Order: sequence, then structure tokens, then C-alpha cells
Amino acid sequence: MIRLWTMRRFGVITVTNSAIITPTAAFPGTLTLPSSTLRNHRLTNSIRFLQSPSLLSCFSSSSSSSSSSSSAAYLPSLDEFSQPKARDDNQKVILKGMTYGVLQEWVESHGFRPGQALMLWKRLYKDNIWAKDFDELEGLNKDFKRMVSEHAELGALSFKDIRSASDGTRKILFTLDDGLVIETVVIPCDRGRTTVCVSSQVGCAMNCQFCYTGRMGLKRNLTAAEIVEQAVYARRLLSREVGSITNVVFMGMGEPFHNIENVIKAANIMVDENGLHFSPRKVTVSTSGLVPQLKRFLRESNCALAVSLNATTDEVRNWIMPINRKYKLSLLLETLREELSSRHKYKVLFEYVMLAGVNDSMDDARRLVELVQGIPCKINLIQFNPHSGSQFIQTDEDKMIKFRNILAEGGCTVLMRFSRGNDQMAACGQLGMLGSVQAPVMRVPEQFRSSLRASV
Ligand code: SF4
Repeated sequence: MIRLWTMRRFGVITVTNSAIITPTAAFPGTLTLPSSTLRNHRLTNSIRFLQSPSLLSCFSSSSSSSSSSSSAAYLPSLDEFSQPKARDDNQKVILKGMTYGVLQEWVESHGFRPGQALMLWKRLYKDNIWAKDFDELEGLNKDFKRMVSEHAELGALSFKDIRSASDGTRKILFTLDDGLVIETVVIPCDRGRTTVCVSSQVGCAMNCQFCYTGRMGLKRNLTAAEIVEQAVYARRLLSREVGSITNVVFMGMGEPFHNIENVIKAANIMVDENGLHFSPRKVTVSTSGLVPQLKRFLRESNCALAVSLNATTDEVRNWIMPINRKYKLSLLLETLREELSSRHKYKVLFEYVMLAGVNDSMDDARRLVELVQGIPCKINLIQFNPHSGSQFIQTDEDKMIKFRNILAEGGCTVLMRFSRGNDQMAACGQLGMLGSVQAPVMRVPEQFRSSLRASV
């Protein structure tokens, strides 16, 4: 094994063959890579990734913590990636980043009546208009329309491409102002429900080992406008073709709670009854388990919550979801137990991606029943979606059903979700595009090595 050491203060990376050096408080961040990586390009990529702000901020966080254990090393800083640079075209405001209250204040500050704000709001979000150009703002007072066109922008995204999978799932690609690309997925369902899956970040810092997006690392947070516009655009582009878009899930690129300010704002805009008017029960925000942000979300938002669980022991979760090194399973679940005890008819959705030989044993199923005791919840078993470079193998359907049966016998409400949009890399965990810098592969616990693909 080769260990890579980073010294943030001096910007130095040292590669050493020593396997016995123990992480210390001063140098808490070690990543163990298979020695074979030294012989291929991925070492270079790993070193570049180690130099990137997302990972350096992880080391920085852990340095300042009291623990000297390497297990705390992988915590991304929540402040590191805030906003993209403001547009420089005369500092125009982006309307889709405003809640209705803020829009009203803005309209009044320019000398117009609040009623004009409502008319503008409806043209942005309602009545099948979903305006993206000023000439679509029909029926507005001329002076008001001129003021809006002089001081505001309607859109935050540029359409780039749309890809259709054989099962009807569509993946829409958008270019952002700074040239980065995000992906949004629309999933039609035969029960009259169509879901749009929105991204909240470009890439992701969490480095879940089964997720393609995680391998990108984090480029930046999306603004509230960039998040909202994905849902507006999906309705505008596809409503006629696939029927009304009824549900929103924040399960695209990124960890939504790593960008919680903009995510809560975007969710508020989406559920406004004069606008897009999604039911709060049908807007689901998913997290890998950022506990403080999860508490904040439950207190400030009435939208639904999903928690990506994916393991029944800390050992496995530490490996496949490094965020668990900071927020352990017991803390995550106890927080949910406490926070949900006072909420009426609110259930958290646990997502569980099934990885053959890793988290899909019948013992896992029995442990899962125990772990969720006392938490009002549903459990969603998700078929793993392979992608290039992934080391995991799908659990077969028969085993998923046996796993499901144990949960059901234990009193759990269980759903099973099979892959959608796989042939266009539009399925869960498949979004994004890898650059030359990639997140490092985490050390695989000895007993799981035989369950993984021999080479990736
Ligand atoms: S599963 Fe979600 S949180 Fe984890 S790396 Fe992928 S996008 Fe990020």
C-alpha cells in the first residue's frame, strides 16, 4: 500500500511507501490507494484531486477537530463553495432566484404595485407560460415590462441537449453561465406521475464510492435560480409529451444539504401555490447524512426528506459513504428519531442502493429492521446502476426480493426501484461528466475485496 500525505499549510504532497505511519492531529488526512495506482494515470489524478479545494477543505476541517483519527478526515467544508460569480451585465437580478416575497419587494422598490409582482410571478411559473423571454411576458404593463427587461434576467440556464432512454426517461443537459454543465432527469411513470430529478451542485464533494457524480469532485454550488429553472424548463419542454410533471426530487448531481441555503430557497419557490405549486409532500430532498443541515431542513422546510443509507454498519458506510466518518450511523438515526417524534404523519424515505456482497446479506436486512426501529419511515431498495470504472456489482432481483421480504416481515414499508434511464447514463448515481481530476477510490475493507470487480 502507498500512502499519500497532504500538508495543507505548505501545499506539499508526499508519496511514501510506509504503511505504518499513523495519522496525527497535524497530518490527519491519509488516503490509502492500491499500489497499482502508482503505475497508472489515476495516481496523477488523485494527486491533483488532493490539491483541489474540496479535499483540502476536508483535511482542514478534520485538523481543527479534536479527533486525531483518520476516520474524521473526510469532511468537506460547507462554506468553501458558495456562489458562482455574479453576472456582470449591469448587475441584473435573476428573477428565478427570488421567493415571491422578495420579488414583491423588488417590484415595489422600482415604484410598481405589488399586484404587478403577482402577474410577473404567474408568467414565470404558471398558466403553461413558463416564460423565458421578455416577449413572453404578455399582458404586463408596458412600463413595468421595460423596467423588468432593463434590470432583470428571466433565465439562469442555457439548454444544451436532451437524450432519451429506451424506457422513456429523458436526460436534459444545461450549460451554466460559466460554461459548466449540469444534468436534469425527467422520469415518466405509468401511474400518472412524472418526476423531475434536479441537481443542486456541479459535481459533488461526498465521494460516495458507488456514484459517478461523486468521482467528479465538487465544482460549485448551484444558485437557487439554477435549481428552480431545471423544474421550470422540464415542465416547459416536456409537459406536452409526458404529461404534467408532478414530483420533484433533489437527487441529481450534488449533495443538496451541502448547498442548503439555496436548496431551501429553491424548494420554497417550487411549492408556492401561485407559481409552480408542487405539493410539499411531492418535493423530496435527499441527503447522504449531513446531520446539522438535516436538522435545519426539518425545522425550516415542510418538504419531504430522503436519507441515503446504503449500509447497516459503520465499517461499510465509512467506506462507501465517507461522510459517515463524520456523522456515524447511530448519530444520524438518533437525530431522525428525535426530530421526527414531534412531527405528525411525516415519514423519512431511506434509500438503500444494493451492492452485491457488500450490503445485501440477509443479516444486513435484519440489522436494517433494527436500525430503523422507532423512526417513521419507508425504505426504498434501489438497484445499483453500474458505470464505467465502478467496482460494484448489482444485486440480482431474486436477492432483492428476499431482502425486501425480511424488511416487510420486520414491519417496514418497503419499495423497490429498478433502474431507469440506464442506457443514457440518466439513472440514479450516473450523472455528470468526469474531468481529468477525479475523486480518489477509498480503501476497500479486506473482507469485501472478493465481492468487487477484479479490475476497474
Ligand atoms: S450519491 Fe449523492 S451525495 Fe453521494 S457522491 Fe453521489 S451525488 Fe454526492
